[in-house]
Amino acid sequence: MTTSSHRPSPRADRVSSTSDVSSDPPPIMLSRCPACGAHASLTPAACPRCGGALFEAVAATGRGVVRARSEVWRAPDSFWKAYVPYTLVLVRLEEGPTIMGHAEASIAIGDPVLGSTTNRADRRVLEFQYCPLGESAVKNFGSHTNTE
Ligand SMILES: [Zn+2]
Repeated sequence: MTTSSHRPSPRADRVSSTSDVSSDPPPIMLSRCPACGAHASLTPAACPRCGGALFEAVAATGRGVVRARSEVWRAPDSFWKAYVPYTLVLVRLEEGPTIMGHAEASIAIGDPVLGSTTNRADRRVLEFQYCPLGESAVKNFGSHTNTE
């Protein structure tokens, strides 16, 4: 009769290991403006940087930094009720866009993370895991943030 809401920390030793490609989860996809190289998490009507109206789908690296986190105790529907409490994060990807995903409860604002897609029952969700390997890349893109 144990409640197993407390999950053990994932081992970091599989992050950089070479795993068989066939088991890789599908990547996080972004829209990219071929005219100026700006990325967007959705497909906007026009590129916010250059006004271009054409976009191509590209795979994100999945690396980013946690900008916000919140713990969800009241699920939006019966499906998510089974996962309560769970942690949602806003992650600024190194390509620029900020996207929402799931993370383990120990994740903190400022943590470098690596995201991937995974399935929960029939739903595809984004999950971010702490990943110190992304730190150098994070510092690089963190220094030239977009002015909004
Ligand atoms: Zn553009």
